[in-house]
Amino acid sequence: MAARVQHGRMLVRPGFNETAPEGSHGARSDWGLSGRYERTSPSIATGIVKFFRAQDHVRGDECWIGELSPPHLPLNSWGTADLSAWGPEVAHRLRSAFFHEAFHLGRTPSRHLLQLRDRFFANGTAYTVWDGPGRVRPLGQWVSERELVRPDELRSIASQLLETLRAVHRSGALLLGLDFETVWITDEGTLIVCSFGQTTQWLCDVLGAEGAKYAPSCVAPEQRVPGSVRSAATDVFGLCCLLYRLGIGVAPPEPLRGVSVPVPKVAFDSAAHFWGAVQLGLSLLPEERPNSAEKCGELLAQTGVAEPVPEDLESFEERALRLMTFRFARRECPSCGGVLERASPLPRLTCPVCRESKIRLRRFDPASCPVCHEGPVREFQNDSPIKVCPLCRSGLLSFRRGRWSLRVDEARCERCRANFDLFGGWLSPHPDASSEPARPDSEWREFSGRSLRVRVCLACQSQFDSESDGRWTLIASLKRMPVASQYEEEWLRVASGLSPESGNAVCESCRSDYFLHGGMLTLIEARRDYFGFARHYTGQAVPIEQLPWIGVGKVSSGPGFVCSDCGSEFDDAPAGLRLVQTTNPTLRERTGKVLDLESWHRTAQRLPMRTEEREFESGFDRAMVEAYEQGRLPFGKGRRKRFLWRSPCVRLELRDEELRARSRCRFAVTPDYLEIGTVRRTRIRREEIAGVRLYDDSSLVIERIEGSAVYLQVPTVVLAAKLRSGPREARIGVANLANRLRTWLDEKRLDEPMPRVLRPSKPEAISQ
Ligand SMILES: [Zn+2]
Ligand SMILES: [Zn+2]
Ligand SMILES: [Zn+2]
Ligand SMILES: [Zn+2]
Repeated sequence: MAARVQHGRMLVRPGFNETAPEGSHGARSDWGLSGRYERTSPSIATGIVKFFRAQDHVRGDECWIGELSPPHLPLNSWGTADLSAWGPEVAHRLRSAFFHEAFHLGRTPSRHLLQLRDRFFANGTAYTVWDGPGRVRPLGQWVSERELVRPDELRSIASQLLETLRAVHRSGALLLGLDFETVWITDEGTLIVCSFGQTTQWLCDVLGAEGAKYAPSCVAPEQRVPGSVRSAATDVFGLCCLLYRLGIGVAPPEPLRGVSVPVPKVAFDSAAHFWGAVQLGLSLLPEERPNSAEKCGELLAQTGVAEPVPEDLESFEERALRLMTFRFARRECPSCGGVLERASPLPRLTCPVCRESKIRLRRFDPASCPVCHEGPVREFQNDSPIKVCPLCRSGLLSFRRGRWSLRVDEARCERCRANFDLFGGWLSPHPDASSEPARPDSEWREFSGRSLRVRVCLACQSQFDSESDGRWTLIASLKRMPVASQYEEEWLRVASGLSPESGNAVCESCRSDYFLHGGMLTLIEARRDYFGFARHYTGQAVPIEQLPWIGVGKVSSGPGFVCSDCGSEFDDAPAGLRLVQTTNPTLRERTGKVLDLESWHRTAQRLPMRTEEREFESGFDRAMVEAYEQGRLPFGKGRRKRFLWRSPCVRLELRDEELRARSRCRFAVTPDYLEIGTVRRTRIRREEIAGVRLYDDSSLVIERIEGSAVYLQVPTVVLAAKLRSGPREARIGVANLANRLRTWLDEKRLDEPMPRVLRPSKPEAISQ
């Protein structure tokens, strides 16, 4: 802002005869906003913020301007929403939250976000100025211009939005406001996200029922409940909701478990997986959604569903070993091994950041000076008679009764020493001060460019003019202030030595900054996050009655336990503990279930419950038999180790299509051959066998390549193994033997030498 020195003092406002900012003073700038920006396009409404293009007359280029102007409010004389309808406190917090979010988004490195250039107050509201591409369309308009969104377009939109989410989440914030209006698309197909989701969400929470009309259309269930935890999964919901609307053309049905997403009109390769991932992202419970943009991206990009891997012997072994040493401490957290503490609610209005002191409202003194913090500020009506010298435009006039005539008063400027006569309401300067003619007060005031209401600090002589939109502009001051023109609420905070965006309440102990209004508490800033409250709740309006529980890390508002390390939360339930929230991915799948503490530990460690141990044992047996069938477990211990099978058997004969017992003998299989008989043995080498099949549930047929077949009846035998978890036995029968023999025969084929031509060439040969 231009400043010039006059009579040794700094005039903060641009020279009065130059082009001045818009406001109350008659012929204001043709440049419109802030004496710098000239609007060049109609507005794009994006929820509570309107965007338009403007010419920046300082930089000489075009930019985007975001005007905080929530719909459904009465308009003021500039056509912007009259925020004061919600009271000065809410209006102040809304402006501050808007600036804060703009600042944060503007600093987040992403090609899909606009870059913040400037911010200022005007027209009863707040403005942010952005760098970004000019030729854009809101996604909603882009969609309405085409019949359907092509699969490649949908995938490109998904990946660009995921990239944006990743960048915003990495910066520690959430978007919370993806919508057809807040996502723009350039002619080249690049997306620009200009969502003020956090500010909008705050407004929705604070306004209660009235706030619902400000909610974006892609809103997750937890966004409708004040005080609930919002996380990356909330943004995943918004993203999936948007993709659904783009691809299918309608809003998704209310997210309810069990409601499946209808088959989309657009069919494309791997569409089922894509829509499956979208459907998962639209789950009612945040725990059931992908909990990060990365995870969501992986699911959307998937082209096939991974087959569930059957649990193998190694996995049973590993769990059996852990089961043998399984124990847990009385108050041990199943999620992280920390300590579960019984939560007791905080006393009313105790600071949830430090849990020590009460939060108290700040008292702002309207008489305190924002510049020197000392002198009392007095307000004058700059009229009948005018109080500010119209010649130097900043000195105060002092009046005294005229010496010569009782009907003529004299006035003298304390600064430029100009003398005036006041007669019948007309002020005329003495000829030695100016040749200006006598004028009535209102004309002099217009001549001076000063306002009707003027505030003056009696200590430092700083002066403030009132703007018609409620702002006060610092006119003359010894000290330059960062912002010269702002609303009363902002000046009050500056006068108290705070930042203009500070809240109206503070913790006496940890100095956390709060906004307390209408039964809702908003943490604005904490210097230190002792218990993790700040990480989850900064900027979110929380109902005061929920605060005692939320403040001790519980979101459920009921008695129970909270882990001091990882924040996992369990509620008391008749038959154990109900899991309310956790960051542990294994436990998270069971949010809402009731189990005793031991079972929660077993769940977290993927161990069987007490009641499931029998099932675990039979699964273990099954895995052991499978391992044998696949040749990964030897037939037995000691000498039996070199056999694939060894048992008595009955050799059978097929006569008249009926099997008859021929002789009892022994049957053994080694890696190279199988052998039948006791004295006279029949030995069949592996390569002579064409195949093995079951004849009935106790016999099998071995088919030889030359055409004949051998029929055998084999008993069920005990498979014994010495595992790391101890000795173990399982029963194997003829069907398992047949499977083992098939694996054996397949191994043979793998063993066969490769034809020469198919052998891989040596690397040296390639490089030469
Ligand atoms: Zn003067
Ligand atoms: Zn002062
Ligand atoms: Zn505190
Ligand atoms: Zn824990």
